Amino acid sequence: MSVYALETEALGVSFGRFRAVDGVSLKVAKGELRVLLGANGAGKTTLMDLISGRTRSTSGRVLLNGRDVTNLREYRIARAGIGRKFQIPSIFTGLTVRQNIEVAQSHHPGVFSNLRIGRSAADRARVEEVIDLVGLSDQMKTEAGTLSHGQIQWLELGMLMIQSPDVILLDEPTAGMTQAETGKTAAIINRLKGNQTMLVVEHDMAFVRDIAEKITVLHLGRVLAEGTVAEIESDAAVRAAYLGSQ
Ligand code: ATP
Repeated sequence: MSVYALETEALGVSFGRFRAVDGVSLKVAKGELRVLLGANGAGKTTLMDLISGRTRSTSGRVLLNGRDVTNLREYRIARAGIGRKFQIPSIFTGLTVRQNIEVAQSHHPGVFSNLRIGRSAADRARVEEVIDLVGLSDQMKTEAGTLSHGQIQWLELGMLMIQSPDVILLDEPTAGMTQAETGKTAAIINRLKGNQTMLVVEHDMAFVRDIAEKITVLHLGRVLAEGTVAEIESDAAVRAAYLGSQ
């Protein structure tokens, strides 16, 4: 089995004559957190779309634990083990935090007719473990509709985590958050690190410094640089293409 949870090989897509993602090769090890940086239009969201099956690639491959999942339908990629969290929440506002996590646990990703009846002691323990992991133990019985913006984002992350995806894709997890919420999000992500493979698009450099080990910088659909936070921040090409504008 591959040591990489997620690999892309020369992945690309063209929209008409425009090459939005142009031969991107990434290798993300099991348990690694990889941050994707890049200016607006660099191709970060499109790359996530290609990996999660939202957009069909026109070249290259996507491998999950060594298995080729290129251009499978979105729900099949989710079921294979790539979970994605969008910026727009999809929680059940009338249910409690706990019930939301339980609903997510009862469904296989992308298959909403597959309700599991009954919950074992291990299932219940896992629900509590995940709620703790995303820092919502005090809100376990709180109706989700009354949560703050940050708490909703953590609940969604919990709903993703309960499905034990091999890889999670997070698109700007701190968007719209206060500084305190951003700090708490960094703490949550740092807790997941090592056990959960993550690919995270993020603009907030202070946050990136808090969480990142390795960064990939995209520019005009291509990988411009890859390295540690310190390497990326001192890279002349990156500074010219991206960080200069931050
Ligand atoms: P941002 O930080 O603004 O979200 P990004 O790095 O995520 O930027 P993408 O959203 O991936 O960038 O867009 C990359 C380029 O591809 C942009 O120029 C965008 O206009 C173009 N693009 C994305 N999707 C399509 C599409 N379906 N059809 C045509 N062009 C597209």
